[in-house]
Amino acid sequence: MERVYNFSAGPAMLPVEVLEEAAAEMLNYNGTGESVMEMSHRSKEYQQIIDDAEADLRDLMKIPDNYKVLFLQGGASLQFAMIPQNLMKNGVADYIITGQWAKKAYQEAQKYGKAVAIASSADKTFSYIPDCSDLPIDEDADYVYICENNTIYGTKYKTLPNTKGKTLVADVSSCFLSEPHDVEKYGVIYGGVQKNIGPAGVVIVIIREDLITEDVLPGTPTMCQYKIHADAKSLYNTPPAYGIYICGKVFKWLKKQGGLAAMKERNERKAKILYDFLDQSSMFHGTVVKEDRSLMNVPFVTGDKDLDALFVKEAAAQGFINLKGHRTVGGMRASIYNAMPQEGVEKLVAFMKKFEEEHQA
Ligand SMILES: *Cc1c(COP(=O)(O)O)cnc(C)c1O
Repeated sequence: MERVYNFSAGPAMLPVEVLEEAAAEMLNYNGTGESVMEMSHRSKEYQQIIDDAEADLRDLMKIPDNYKVLFLQGGASLQFAMIPQNLMKNGVADYIITGQWAKKAYQEAQKYGKAVAIASSADKTFSYIPDCSDLPIDEDADYVYICENNTIYGTKYKTLPNTKGKTLVADVSSCFLSEPHDVEKYGVIYGGVQKNIGPAGVVIVIIREDLITEDVLPGTPTMCQYKIHADAKSLYNTPPAYGIYICGKVFKWLKKQGGLAAMKERNERKAKILYDFLDQSSMFHGTVVKEDRSLMNVPFVTGDKDLDALFVKEAAAQGFINLKGHRTVGGMRASIYNAMPQEGVEKLVAFMKKFEEEHQA
């Protein structure tokens, strides 16, 4: 069976071993005679699946005991609302705008209180991370919000902002489990899993216990209250059961690879192959300042729209799919998440070299 190298920003590649295991268990999970898709979420078999998933994630990320892990729905985008609904006790929050996802979160928060944009890199098409060492943090801010890895623009915070003691909330959708996260530095870490962990339909929220209260904004739907989900251990209603099962398999796969420190090394090695090529190419150029480059999403351009389009087309014909960049950046973007093998990046670079030779002006 022929598989392509999928450079999509998400949904994205999953480890082949995980897909094979899921396929083998499709009709009969662990002697139950049923698929996990058909299983009651109140069964003891499913309880084991979700308990193991949480335990393995806690182990991987070294999540302290005073943090809850919630498996929720609604994608990362519903968190744009849930965060202010649950956390805006003073009605004020500071946002750092490093791309479209941060901006959407900021705009959503404005529905619920005073959301303040305290820094932005919009002036240069979000191609860098602003200096966040001494920002005008609001005295009343309930939290400071960042999007840690900017999927569209290919930037990543290498140091977290100085929040001056305020709670840090981070969207890590596109760098989740790509390297160790120091959970204690955050009040909330969350991400949709379809970038780097599992199938679309699950969002994981890791939240410090003191932030989980009944004191939410008036009118907050029951389904949008962290406390409801925390008290019910993510089983308040039917969870995205099959998606969580696949996430659990990916957690086990990551542990087998050596955990997050090993993934970081591997991801650095992989990204370096592509960035090194871009830095010496006379045709292809990275669009992000070097010190803020993401290990996961690598945007690049030729500077010629027609040539970009030709490259994307020829690459797809060779089995390198979804390389078209986001419309706001143009050009190409290679998303090289955990499940992208190094070989995929090496082959892409070999193809880029060949393309460059063949289309040199
Ligand atoms: C993809 C993405 C989102 C949106 O995720 P949905 O699950 O589609 O809502 C939000 N933030 C970041 C950083 C993303 O990469």
